[in-house]
Amino acid sequence: MSSVMIRCPVTGRAVSTQIETEPYVLRALPRIAARMNCSACGQEHVWATDEAWLDEEPLPQATEDQEAADIAGSEAA
Ligand SMILES: [Zn+2]
Repeated sequence: MSSVMIRCPVTGRAVSTQIETEPYVLRALPRIAARMNCSACGQEHVWATDEAWLDEEPLPQATEDQEAADIAGSEAA
């Protein structure tokens, strides 16, 4: 089981929805909205299944730059 992750629109951080599932379950879901209390900013967010990912999967495209920056930083250090 993996945690379903979304991106916090306030902080831009990946945060866990506290929901755990399997990849095939997440992909099989129709596009539905859910609410969560965000652990990053403390607000309530409405998120949709088509914008969520599992924490063991590669991050979505939008976060690739940040991930690359992190890798570059660790190599430099
Ligand atoms: Zn948030």
